[in-house]
Amino acid sequence: MTNSPPVSLQFLGAAGGVTGSKYLFSYGDDQLLIDCGLFQGLKELRQRNWAPVPIDLARLRAVILTHAHIDHSGYLPRIVAKGYRGPVFATPGTCDLLTVMLPDAAHLQEEEARYANRKEYSKHAPALPLYTVQDADRSLQLLRPIRNAQSVEVMPNVSLKFGRVGHILGAGSARLSFEIDGQQRTLLDSGDLGRYGRPILKDPEPAPNADWLLIESTYGNRVHPKDSENDLREIIKDIAARGSCLVVPAFAVGRTQDLIYVIRKMEDAGEIPTIPVHIDSPMAIEATDIYCRHTEEHDFEMAQLSSRERCPISSRHMVIDRTPEESKAINNLKGPLIIISASGMATGGRVLHHLKHRLPDPDTTVLLVGYQAEGTRGRSLQDGAKELKMLGEIVPVRARVTVLDGFSAHADQEEILRWLRTFKKPPRMTYVVHGEPAAASTFVGLIRERLSWKAEVAKYQQKISLQ
Ligand SMILES: [Zn+2]
Repeated sequence: MTNSPPVSLQFLGAAGGVTGSKYLFSYGDDQLLIDCGLFQGLKELRQRNWAPVPIDLARLRAVILTHAHIDHSGYLPRIVAKGYRGPVFATPGTCDLLTVMLPDAAHLQEEEARYANRKEYSKHAPALPLYTVQDADRSLQLLRPIRNAQSVEVMPNVSLKFGRVGHILGAGSARLSFEIDGQQRTLLDSGDLGRYGRPILKDPEPAPNADWLLIESTYGNRVHPKDSENDLREIIKDIAARGSCLVVPAFAVGRTQDLIYVIRKMEDAGEIPTIPVHIDSPMAIEATDIYCRHTEEHDFEMAQLSSRERCPISSRHMVIDRTPEESKAINNLKGPLIIISASGMATGGRVLHHLKHRLPDPDTTVLLVGYQAEGTRGRSLQDGAKELKMLGEIVPVRARVTVLDGFSAHADQEEILRWLRTFKKPPRMTYVVHGEPAAASTFVGLIRERLSWKAEVAKYQQKISLQ
């Protein structure tokens, strides 16, 4: 005998892949969405962004964002464009980052539509953007900041608490509490799990217990190398000695700050010579400022540095390139020189111009420091492509391409297991999400083998009953 309404969860993204994070939680007639991310990478994935919104917006009471990365937040303006006006819950750090990231994402959408119209390659005339800057601005007005560990009722009978996971500034796991047949039940989504002992941010907190767990598995089949900082040091010494150029496509939020911080540390320790570091991404510049402002998230070392200077995320000879003209002028510069520019997977942004200009040069080194999703130019470079299509041209790849996974913002398989071992008792069921098929299935095997927990890979559009 039961009086509780039906409770369920549906995987509308980041199941069978790493982008488009969206988990729809239903409690009776009310629904909420954990993450509202854009699909990125392969064309068949990106097309899902354009399909009719897979959610009944009249029933949607709340949106929860685990962090600001676009694959977790970038679909929000789309549902707002379609009429969503409810609250969007996120940590203060995430809210601040979104004020830069969502308008930027909208701007890219508008630009893409303009480009399609100019080249007349769209089947739709005129091509429309997925959403506009106005939709993004409207989304920002819906943000409701809640602090880490603060419990808030996000819709009737359901409350939310974020827990710090150290992935990027503001990143949290999202834990829902609700009642089923008079019993308190919990669902925990890890969000993107960060790492232990990384610069700037505090480590992930121990996990709270949960009845149902969604765990990310981006690196579920890999272990990060331990000596990436050594490798970076050697690469910088090498380009300094040869007077050449290092191009680093990097996420504007998270990776760029980590890199600058580490370069600065090496300079201070006298391990590398001081050479110009160009930060060629307006968003990275704003994000760096936001990182420095949120002192509540700083780890011990960063807190000590910030007590002495306003923004310690800065190399000794850092050049900030704000305007497109400044960005283009970098083409005329000879090395030694480091260019850090977005996007991190070379799917767009200013880094394309640098790659187009520098990839044909065998003296250049291109450094890939983040996860490169299937179907992106970054992935092609990582896989050894001899040429790349970009900005309407075929560009030969003669530069040296180096991959350093150790700067990843994602926990590797050992680190995910370390976090899972902080559970005091096993979840009733664990769903492995946010991983390409090989990573997710390997990690399910590990959970069963090492922890003896019940686990399975979440499937796209699968709906599970929580009873
Ligand atoms: Zn992320």
